[in-house]
Amino acid sequence: MADGIAGAAGVPTLAPMAFAEAAESGTPEGGEVTKVITGHLASGVADFVYLPVEVPRGVNQISVSYTYDEPPVPAGTPGNSCDIGLFDERGTALGGRGFRGWSGGARAAFVVNSDSTTPGYLPGPVNHGTWHIVLGPYQVAPQGMEYSVSVTLRYGAPGAPFVPSYPAERAKGRGRAWYRGDAHLHTVHSDGRRLPSEVAAGAREAGLDFIVSTDHNTSSAHGVWGPYAGPDLLIVTGEEVTTRNGHWLALGLEPGAWIDWRYRARDDAFSRFAHQVHRQGGLVVPAHPYCPYVACQWKFGYADADAVEVWNGPWTYDDESAVDTWDAMLGTAMRTGNDWLPAVGNSDAHGAPQVIGLPQTVVYAEDLDRGAVLNGIREGRTYVAESAAVALAFTATGGGRRAGIAEALRLRADTPVDVRLEVSGVPDGTVRFITDEGQTHQESLDASGSGTVVWRTTASLAAYVRAEVRHPRADGTPGRGNTTGRDLQWGPMAALTNPIILRLRD
Ligand SMILES: [Zn+2]
Ligand SMILES: [Zn+2]
Repeated sequence: MADGIAGAAGVPTLAPMAFAEAAESGTPEGGEVTKVITGHLASGVADFVYLPVEVPRGVNQISVSYTYDEPPVPAGTPGNSCDIGLFDERGTALGGRGFRGWSGGARAAFVVNSDSTTPGYLPGPVNHGTWHIVLGPYQVAPQGMEYSVSVTLRYGAPGAPFVPSYPAERAKGRGRAWYRGDAHLHTVHSDGRRLPSEVAAGAREAGLDFIVSTDHNTSSAHGVWGPYAGPDLLIVTGEEVTTRNGHWLALGLEPGAWIDWRYRARDDAFSRFAHQVHRQGGLVVPAHPYCPYVACQWKFGYADADAVEVWNGPWTYDDESAVDTWDAMLGTAMRTGNDWLPAVGNSDAHGAPQVIGLPQTVVYAEDLDRGAVLNGIREGRTYVAESAAVALAFTATGGGRRAGIAEALRLRADTPVDVRLEVSGVPDGTVRFITDEGQTHQESLDASGSGTVVWRTTASLAAYVRAEVRHPRADGTPGRGNTTGRDLQWGPMAALTNPIILRLRD
């Protein structure tokens, strides 16, 4: 516990910072008053510590800046890092109405008022009442953290209200077709370095049809996307809900809606917020479930999830783990008969040199609108590709019928099924067909990167079949995807599909 921290009901709360009304303090219209608090947070402090700020009447702006020390620590030991955010006079209740913004560890200062609020924070009046600055000491060095928070109130009449411009819910589609999108992107509204205009331009350059805005823990970007959407680019509002027990994407939030992040797996709060997203027609998608950074590994399970992000940014070993876990869940779904969980992939790009659309989720949707794209993702009618240069067509044909990605064939046990993958855009790539038994077929493409691979199976041999296309290994060989060794026996991912299901008919 840190010095000077009290608080009811287990909410760690510092001593309040009180400001007088302008008349009492003699501060003129437009005048400012600053107060500073310093303190020490020990290792073992709670996830969030609240600093109450008593805001009097007649205030039109609150400005906050903070610093903390960074004492040296041995390699591999967490050093100090502290997030920050703000709740207004409507309170700090979990999922309540008082949320006014979050900048995580991305900014040392922010300003909240009616018309020129710092990105990440929600513009609006600075009403009289008890506000709270929330400190999130997510890593504390063994020596503890010395912090200082400075709060400045400006007195005066409120400015003109901010008028949000939300993006249109539909773009000009091609009817029922495959649409490419990146559903995990950051801007300056959280810790990204790109402006919303730059993200939209990057999405167009990458050949994307849609993006989802997923800044960490805030909805503040929602109201600025309007001018950057267009007939050629659908922009869907969302959030990356960044908890201490993993991150999840809330895709397709109602514009302006915010989802709370202040809970761990043991707090039994996640389902409540997953339901909040579902009620809005949105999707719950655990992100980068094996990312090794502190607080980034997924601990909430998949019962409330609509899809899982198995591929996040350039292909790395934690993505292999995510694909393995997802594949095992496909097997479980075949056993229980429950819905299987679709896979998606997104860039999570924060700024150059991270590439928007690397990778991207390609969705078979009824049209290019929010509802249709979310439906396609929910139903798993998707594949993931490293860029718009990579295209797949994946089918299974048997018993006179043909099924595509996320569809099912119902067949007698021994009816032949031809599984067919058409690929373009992966020079010297290797196609892997993977069933509930593991990799059952492998074939390499030539230097053109295009080709068609056909493999015959039956419903008795394969409960599902999915495809991966891999780049060559570092030594230039395709590897052998059903063996083991000191190194991974296959190269980095270029594309992967959701499964086609082969059901047994008696
Ligand atoms: Zn994340
Ligand atoms: Zn992210």
